[in-house]
Amino acid sequence: MNIILLGPPGSGKGTQSTYLSSAYKLNHISTGDILRSEISDKTKLGLQAESYMNSGDLVPDNLIIEMVSKKLSLLNSVLLDGFPRTLNQAESLDNELALLEKKIDFVFYFDVPAEDLVLRLSQRISCKNCSSIFSKIDKEYICSSNCKEQILYQREDDKPEAISKRMESYISLTTPLIDFYDKKRIMININANKSILEVSKEIDGIMQS
Ligand code: ADP
Repeated sequence: MNIILLGPPGSGKGTQSTYLSSAYKLNHISTGDILRSEISDKTKLGLQAESYMNSGDLVPDNLIIEMVSKKLSLLNSVLLDGFPRTLNQAESLDNELALLEKKIDFVFYFDVPAEDLVLRLSQRISCKNCSSIFSKIDKEYICSSNCKEQILYQREDDKPEAISKRMESYISLTTPLIDFYDKKRIMININANKSILEVSKEIDGIMQS
């Protein structure tokens, strides 16, 4: 099974990915997490991507497509989180999957009112070590069990200026994908303006039907 999580920054894709990849034995491919780890390892790709990411711009398609293609060819059953984010990326994903004789089974579109997203992002705290996501309003921050050392921080792109840039990029470059996948009849709307558990249950209901 191959799944895409589509939705604006802050809609909860990363949080649900942790649950879904473990519950349904999917290989989680988060382009944001891969890029952050490339940046922290100071690789060539990391150095190329860093300034785009920190300012809230999308990283150029050619870099992202190459990065994801390498993973796709090695993994079965993937959960794509943060990819595709442009029509160009979606088309190249289709071509890549066709070559590998694979297909996308579901695209879950995470629907959250725009006004709630900025608040969610500005309250977000992440663990640099394991990518666990928390909110400043959480009572405690407990990482996933395999986290060796919790390092809490606020992502550079969760600061106000970068948040508005990310929202603009999302609206102009990513929202056309809603129509793209809707036409293919594989897109399912998820009301993601609910608690983490309720969103997981809504997705479970679809996966198990
Ligand atoms: P969010 O969904 O909260 O914006 P991500 O961790 O998915 O966070 O992405 C963070 C940043 O990484 C994006 O703002 C962008 O700069 C870069 N990025 C991630 N995925 C892609 C992609 N598919 N195409 C281009 N840039 C990407």
